Amino acid sequence: MTSINFQSPAPSSQPLVIKVGGSAGINYDLVCDDIAQLVKDGARIVLVHGGSDETNKISTQLGKPPRVLTSPQGYTSRYTDSETLDIFSMVYAGKMNTRIVERLLKRGTKAIGLSGVDGRLMEGTRKTSVRAVIDGKQVLVRDDFTGKVEKINTELLNLLLNAGYTPVISPPAVSYEGEAINVDGDRASAMLASAIGAKQLIILSNIPGLLRSFPDESTLIPTIKFDGLEQALGFAEGRMKKKVLCASEAIAGGVEQVVFADARVERPIFNAMQGKGTVISR
Ligand code: ADP
Repeated sequence: MTSINFQSPAPSSQPLVIKVGGSAGINYDLVCDDIAQLVKDGARIVLVHGGSDETNKISTQLGKPPRVLTSPQGYTSRYTDSETLDIFSMVYAGKMNTRIVERLLKRGTKAIGLSGVDGRLMEGTRKTSVRAVIDGKQVLVRDDFTGKVEKINTELLNLLLNAGYTPVISPPAVSYEGEAINVDGDRASAMLASAIGAKQLIILSNIPGLLRSFPDESTLIPTIKFDGLEQALGFAEGRMKKKVLCASEAIAGGVEQVVFADARVERPIFNAMQGKGTVISR
């Protein structure tokens, strides 16, 4: 049996960005165990998190079940009218963020929770209309509060990191006009990792990585080169497509390595740092 060394790597001034998803099965306690140890050993970490499963549950309980928009290219996004945005913020920036910060505080990490709206931490353009395919027909949806992160307030992040805080960040982001907007957490984390000069972006979800034949976990693709991402996109379905896109954006933005890894297992981040999952690089 090979023994695995769960020592933190030598601390580097370059931050590590971790994105933990919001799908069912993710073990936030295990994720926070690793973050606490890494921070204790000197790592600078920014954590971005999701909340999709919990948002779906709570919006259904509130009598407003989730609606998904599918673009003509097959990408899916949550249809976010003003009321949905309130529910989305309550769950992401409220419940999920507070519970993750609480877990980290219990483990001795100086965690601080922020949404992308706070201090214009994550800023971008709100889409004035979204093209979607509904019942086989292309339509333009205009009351959607979604957008894409284009700008990161690195000054604020560095201020917090330099003071020893571990920022825990969730959507929504903010438009240039000052409206809260729903953004994809994976792509936001790619933008953030590029903006703060992170060497590595670890994307944790409820799967071991990109599977050649989903959901067969024995078909895990261990490595992908930047040039092969286009082909890899062909294996991804639904929301996994955005993760592949996000990896491509992060590497193009200067991040050396993106790892898709499993957040249901012991030592999720140490495993990812040791290459367990799908490792994407130039
Ligand atoms: P999270 O909320 O954790 O960020 P998502 O639900 O957005 O995660 O995306 C991960 C999901 O993508 C997996 O749970 C799986 O259902 C789906 N998926 C589709 N195609 C693939 C694939 N080829 N490999 C891995 N997962 C895939």
